[in-house]
Amino acid sequence: MPTSTPKYHLLALGCQMNVSDGERAAKVLEDIGYTKAASETEADLMMVIACSVRQSAVDRVHGKIATWEKLKKKKTLVTILSGCVLPHDKERLGKRFDLVLDIKNLLNLPAELVKLKDSKLPPEQIGLHQEKYADNYFAVRPKYSNGFQAYVPIMTGCNAFCTYCAVPYTRGRELSRQPQDILTEVAQLVKHGYKEITLLGQIINKYMIQVDDKFMAWLEEFKKDNNIPDLPELHSEYFTEKKLFKFPQLLALCASLPGDYWLRYTSSHPKWFTDELIETLAKYHKLPHHAHLPVQAGHDVILKRMLRPYTIEEYKKIVHKLRIKIPDLAVTTDCIVGFPGETREQFESTLDLFREMKYDMAFTAQFSPRPGSVAGKWEDDVPHAEKEFREKELTDVLRQTTFDHNQALLNTKQRVLIYKTSKKNTGFEAEGRTGGMKPIRFTTPTDMTGQFVNVKVTKAEPWHLKGNLVNPHTYL
Ligand code: SF4
Repeated sequence: MPTSTPKYHLLALGCQMNVSDGERAAKVLEDIGYTKAASETEADLMMVIACSVRQSAVDRVHGKIATWEKLKKKKTLVTILSGCVLPHDKERLGKRFDLVLDIKNLLNLPAELVKLKDSKLPPEQIGLHQEKYADNYFAVRPKYSNGFQAYVPIMTGCNAFCTYCAVPYTRGRELSRQPQDILTEVAQLVKHGYKEITLLGQIINKYMIQVDDKFMAWLEEFKKDNNIPDLPELHSEYFTEKKLFKFPQLLALCASLPGDYWLRYTSSHPKWFTDELIETLAKYHKLPHHAHLPVQAGHDVILKRMLRPYTIEEYKKIVHKLRIKIPDLAVTTDCIVGFPGETREQFESTLDLFREMKYDMAFTAQFSPRPGSVAGKWEDDVPHAEKEFREKELTDVLRQTTFDHNQALLNTKQRVLIYKTSKKNTGFEAEGRTGGMKPIRFTTPTDMTGQFVNVKVTKAEPWHLKGNLVNPHTYL
């Protein structure tokens, strides 16, 4: 038996999905008797939710394990590798960790730990743990990182195989989570006063699950219990007749719970951005007016080579429809420059697209070959200096469009969720986001982290806003 409670330290690298997986892993560890270590050096167990998608994240895992190996010489320490790990990274890194665990097998973690002599885990904890959960890791109620924002995964894996991406090889095929689980989790969060709930999935708008009469009966009860009115999305033909429960149905239900919150979702894919989804986004006021629609490149030839199954014309039509339905919508995107074979002319189409779409924000990246992805085997033929130059040109266009959008917000009142606050001499400096995901700074008289407030925009910069608190107790 351990003499004191064993402690864990958890490091989640990469995207929100990994952060969410880390929250579930923390819950499992706490259920079996671990407590969170105040610092890395105090921990008896180190777990990394790794990301093989970005080389910088892989390098960080190498750095961490080197440090932990040194610590192991001084104390008893268990190290675990999980998350999005490519087979070849798993092979190289796995040898240096005590345990490599597929995140979908999170429920096996206690049993695996007991097998390790250094785990300090009493074997009787396994039975206790296994009674608690069903056999799927989504069923683990996560230990949310804070009391006002929560990530809720609704699917995992991806079947799209974009040629630059390694996710389908690390997370495996697409798997949609049962709607009862999702709706119950979201309803609980809303009841507990969470203000920003973000649904997660690799292609979230592809969410679809075949339901049965049992689910239909459960849904009626759920609607009654949560005072949800009759929703148009629940009358669509494929739901009533084919019993296919898709993303618009899920979104409409999650956005109709009684409570004061924002419901966000990420990440969507243009191919599955249907008219029905656009209608739903326009209808529910708990869905903030922001759409993140990754384009990845501005030329059809490059899109084809990326295996992105849409054309630029189709993409533009979606954005156009969205802006007609939701005039104040903030549109953001992801884009890669210097993809193998991208000519200057093709890149200029991306510049034109950025000028035309007038994005509110974009996450641009220079192509870097990811081992394990299809394009990782191709010749990386756009020189590094040229990639840098292209990214800079794109950023210059983006800076102007974001600045124009931000200027248009001057003197308007925005509803803002405060993400964090720091103490200053004369009060608190708050940082928050508007519904359109614009970062905004202002001062508050007290620490109001996690609250919705109204802010008058007084200054617009290209990448952020500044403002004054209007009235902390009056919502728009
Ligand atoms: S849609 Fe493409 S980029 Fe996104 S996770 Fe799937 S393969 Fe990767």
